[in-house]
Amino acid sequence: MKKLLLATGNRAKVREYRSLLQGLPFRLVTPKEQGITTVVDETGETLEENARLKALALAAESRLAALADDSGLEVDILGGEPGCLSARCAGEGASDAERISYLLRRLKDVPWEQRSARFRCVIAVATPEGRVALCSGECRGVITLEAVGWGGFGYDPVFYLPGLAKTMAELSLAVKNRISHRGQAARKVPGVLAELGL
Ligand code: IMP
Repeated sequence: MKKLLLATGNRAKVREYRSLLQGLPFRLVTPKEQGITTVVDETGETLEENARLKALALAAESRLAALADDSGLEVDILGGEPGCLSARCAGEGASDAERISYLLRRLKDVPWEQRSARFRCVIAVATPEGRVALCSGECRGVITLEAVGWGGFGYDPVFYLPGLAKTMAELSLAVKNRISHRGQAARKVPGVLAELGL
């Protein structure tokens, strides 16, 4: 079976993608499994640019088709921030808990009705020859007043889904994948692979 490189070092994302992409006629491999340790700097100003950069760099290095994901949390009252700075907004090397505290501090006096946000995920698939195609997904929710739940990763404990009356961190992997930004984007991957002739 052909290999598709999941161009991420984030184990939680790998877990979600292994479930989301299980029907594809590809064997999903990680950079670590391929002996690749390169970390691509996210120097782009948008999720699209960063996903593209990561997919192209890892496809060129591995000589395999590579799928990269850049995701971010966009809070309406913060004008879409932290957006593509979601990983770095609380400083380089900050933990998920520190990023959550930083976000909750910024929203300290913001009432519930004004805490709307969305998660956005952009997936780029690149070939070793340098062709690339993108798809994306989004999921809307509300930022809670405190962290709730232990599942998922990142900002999941403060991302509340009114339709399910739960935070993303209270969902099973299967339910998160059904509704999440990453799930929405991943369901478009077969079309992207076809577009690239893979
Ligand atoms: P990146 O896509 O790895 O650059 O992640 C950007 C930031 O958004 C990181 O702080 C992640 O933890 C967070 N993030 C990305 N996807 C999710 C998700 O599905 N749930 C919660 N946080 C996420």
